[in-house]
Amino acid sequence: MRCRGGSSISKDFCNVISGKINAIRKLLANWGRAHYVDFPWRSTKNSFHALVAEIMLQRTKAEQVVPVYTTFASLYPTAKEASSANPEELLEILAHLGLRWRAKKISDLAGEICRRGNVVPKEFEELVALPGVGAYAACAYLSFHVGKRAIIVDTNAVRLWTRIFGLTTRKEMRRNKEFLCLVDNITPAKGFRVFNYAVLDHTRTVCKQKPLCGICPVNSLCSYYLATQSAKE
Ligand code: SF4
Repeated sequence: MRCRGGSSISKDFCNVISGKINAIRKLLANWGRAHYVDFPWRSTKNSFHALVAEIMLQRTKAEQVVPVYTTFASLYPTAKEASSANPEELLEILAHLGLRWRAKKISDLAGEICRRGNVVPKEFEELVALPGVGAYAACAYLSFHVGKRAIIVDTNAVRLWTRIFGLTTRKEMRRNKEFLCLVDNITPAKGFRVFNYAVLDHTRTVCKQKPLCGICPVNSLCSYYLATQSAKE
């Protein structure tokens, strides 16, 4: 199994997962469709707001982001208003998310998007060159708002895939080439948007730190669950 980036995962491991991948994709996507939550940034047509939302969502629960995003979007309809906002006012709005650095980054991002004529780029390399936009935010933006296939790898997704495939969690797993290759291979070419939303929603509500394995659609294919079941026997 070889990724576009050139990395590959071992043949043995490939054999183990190849039989599972299609079933996992299907089960997760079906679950995702049934449990989709229409958070306000998911249906926005405003590219700037959509990108800002992905920055707000980093290391923050979606429910916590909702009121902050809603206030931000209503006060600053475009990057122009956000770039000329009073820094104290912006800080006060974003302070509810906990991480103060985001106010400065979002203000800088607004300035940059403004300079670009209120146009948000649609290429990964250009996106990650913007203030405050990391690989996760860029991939989420591309996948959900541009319609380009991209993989979703945040801490929650690492937890999901390491549990399902019984992987040992290593340091900096989100940047581990083999792991990224694995997620790249699991993410479907068609229907990636539904699949990626399913991963986000499932890891937010089911495969949490304390997982709800009993209601999980992929429990029969999950190494973690099967190991806990056999330990009980
Ligand atoms: S069975 Fe449990 S550990 Fe496995 S994916 Fe589902 S919720 Fe997560």
